[in-house]
Amino acid sequence: MAKLLPVEEARACILAAVAPMEAVTVPLLDAQDHVLAEDVVSAVTVPPLANSSMDGFAVRAEDTVDAPVSLVVAGTVAAGYMYEGAVGPGQAVRIMTGAPLPPGADAVVRFEDTDAADDRVTIRVAVRPGNYVRPAGQDIRAGEVVVPRGTLLRPAHIGVLASVGQAQVSVIRRPRVGVLATGDELVPVGEPLQPGQIYNSNTYSMAAQVTAAGGIPVLLGIARDTKSDLTACFRRGLEAGVDLFITSGGVSMGDFDVVKDVLQAEGSMDFWRVNMKPGKPLAFGRLGSVPHLGLPGNPVSSMVAFQQFARPAILKMRGLTNLDSPTVDVILDEDVPALTLTPDLVRDERRQYVRVMVETRADGPHARLTGSQDSGVLTSMARANALVVVPEGEAGARAGEWATAQWIDWPAV
Ligand code: AMP
Ligand code: MG
Repeated sequence: MAKLLPVEEARACILAAVAPMEAVTVPLLDAQDHVLAEDVVSAVTVPPLANSSMDGFAVRAEDTVDAPVSLVVAGTVAAGYMYEGAVGPGQAVRIMTGAPLPPGADAVVRFEDTDAADDRVTIRVAVRPGNYVRPAGQDIRAGEVVVPRGTLLRPAHIGVLASVGQAQVSVIRRPRVGVLATGDELVPVGEPLQPGQIYNSNTYSMAAQVTAAGGIPVLLGIARDTKSDLTACFRRGLEAGVDLFITSGGVSMGDFDVVKDVLQAEGSMDFWRVNMKPGKPLAFGRLGSVPHLGLPGNPVSSMVAFQQFARPAILKMRGLTNLDSPTVDVILDEDVPALTLTPDLVRDERRQYVRVMVETRADGPHARLTGSQDSGVLTSMARANALVVVPEGEAGARAGEWATAQWIDWPAV
């Protein structure tokens, strides 16, 4: 068999050809799941003033040394208000959670540790300075970088940015990914099937994978296997301003030539045979200045190749640097069969990505195959939550052995 391109080499070529998108300013809530493009420096201190962490009485700690002691209640302060005046010796001020500590007070005694009557309060416990007081700047100091550039913004980051009053932030925009299916046999979902036709499922699985990877799918429909139709679909994508093309089909031996001619007329393109199963045929190049990844047509092949090549490219375009799918070591509950001989009767030594369901048991995560591993059987992909990776050259794997599995549909971190 002719030499196959290692998965890592194909991946490295693709990643070298894509770059992070430019920064855009968006309202804070729209920034979730984007990568922050600039350090955010806090203009404020959080909390801005020392304040109470409990409902109780603000006191001078030294007045409580001989507890129980009786103090004069001089007033009340609630969150959002400043106490006018100061707490003098022998005095206490009713204070609510979050209210600024009045001048003179240095501690708070919880209501639970007091007995209040009329304008006096009995403090039952002695407290030390700082008791139930949150100091100014406990969380954030003005001038500090609160969220560094490059951070993938999660709900807690959105909260932190709000806590420093950041209404808008600069983030790396999401890439627009043109999704195009090719094939004369394909019918749009929702229309009746004629004999010989099948529904175009790849557009849906690929568009869903684009969304799951944090890209914006731009649907470019179905291209017939003709030069003119393919050319027209790609031109439409260029006009729509896509940042990346992902196509399915037309890159294996049968219809290689039409796609190849079009791609080479419109840009530059390599056709690879990658050392993996499923997903061996792969095209990669540019249409104009836009990178194009041509995935195989078989429904599982396109999804597995998407996971290996398109997902990391989209993550890089989003500004992420951790592009690997998370993995888990699993105990195989059944044998993974070796690949069959190739048509020229040599052993097929490609790396296998095997659809499995991983379940955690007392002795660790276990994996069982989810059904037929044929590259046309999409339902076994739907039942899987991971892909066991059987390394190149191995004749399958045995039940009871440990293997490494890639989680499917895991969010970026
Ligand atoms: P191809 O790579 O174009 O030769 O396609 C390989 C196999 O995948 C054929 O059986 C196709 O019918 C099937 N296929 C190609 N594109 C799609 C699609 N968009 N949806 C479902 N099946 C497809
Ligand atoms: Mg085809």
